[in-house]
Amino acid sequence: MSPVSPRVLLSIDYEPWFALFRHYDSLTDPLERRDLDGGFTLRAIDPILEQLMDARASIYLVGEIGDWYPEIPQKIVSAGHELGLHCHIHRPLKNVDELAQDVRASTSWRKKYNVQGYRAPMIGIDESAYQLLGANGFAYSSSIYAPSGTLLQKGNVWEIPVSTMRWRGKNNIYAAPRAFTFQLLFSGEFPYGSSFSIGVLGTQIFKFIERDLKRGLSPSIFLHPYELIKPPPSARLTRDVLLNPHLLPFLRNKSGFLKSLLKHFPVSPLGTYLDEMLASQGQSHA
Ligand SMILES: [Zn+2]
Repeated sequence: MSPVSPRVLLSIDYEPWFALFRHYDSLTDPLERRDLDGGFTLRAIDPILEQLMDARASIYLVGEIGDWYPEIPQKIVSAGHELGLHCHIHRPLKNVDELAQDVRASTSWRKKYNVQGYRAPMIGIDESAYQLLGANGFAYSSSIYAPSGTLLQKGNVWEIPVSTMRWRGKNNIYAAPRAFTFQLLFSGEFPYGSSFSIGVLGTQIFKFIERDLKRGLSPSIFLHPYELIKPPPSARLTRDVLLNPHLLPFLRNKSGFLKSLLKHFPVSPLGTYLDEMLASQGQSHA
């Protein structure tokens, strides 16, 4: 049982639509990358903030979007949401030297908005990243999958996992980092907090959420901007999807899911939850 009121820890990994497709990882020219986004991330922000209504969420921003459109982090903060970092340029990023360079690129807006939270791209993080995050002023990371209620201390950084549900082998000890593998899936652990799972199961995910909330736990789930606002149709996107049909659940519209989620469950940003958890233990991360 958690010492704080259970709620859904809601996050949006605010990334361009092409972050889904690995063949754009090698595209390094910032102007070409901005052109590829085609203004989508800017057009999507206001409607997404409207979809969140009175709820407050964690929005982990890909830093290059803040370079293209500095008004986006401002809009997120002005609307009362928690602004976090989802790396500067979205690609698999586990090498600590590469990560150090990536994290440096967002220093100015992270300082300006006092960013405390980090979500690793592809939910993939290395042990050495935690010290780096701590040294760069982060209070927490949400970069592994584990059952709801798991809160792990890594030096002076906390790890708040994206939720899984475990059907067997209940009393496991969880440690970060933790790579989510098919082996875990087959052993009876399901990563229901992933927007991929939400794309497959839709509001069936509410059963997992309800089960955890009833146990006094706070499930952590994430969505993407292109799941709430449809990216403009293009031959390129159609081709990318045809070549990667396994990614379709990521592109399924989840506005209805979000609306229903906000109607049925209390939600909060991850940072708020961490502050309350630490306060209940007489601690502060600041
Ligand atoms: Zn991502």
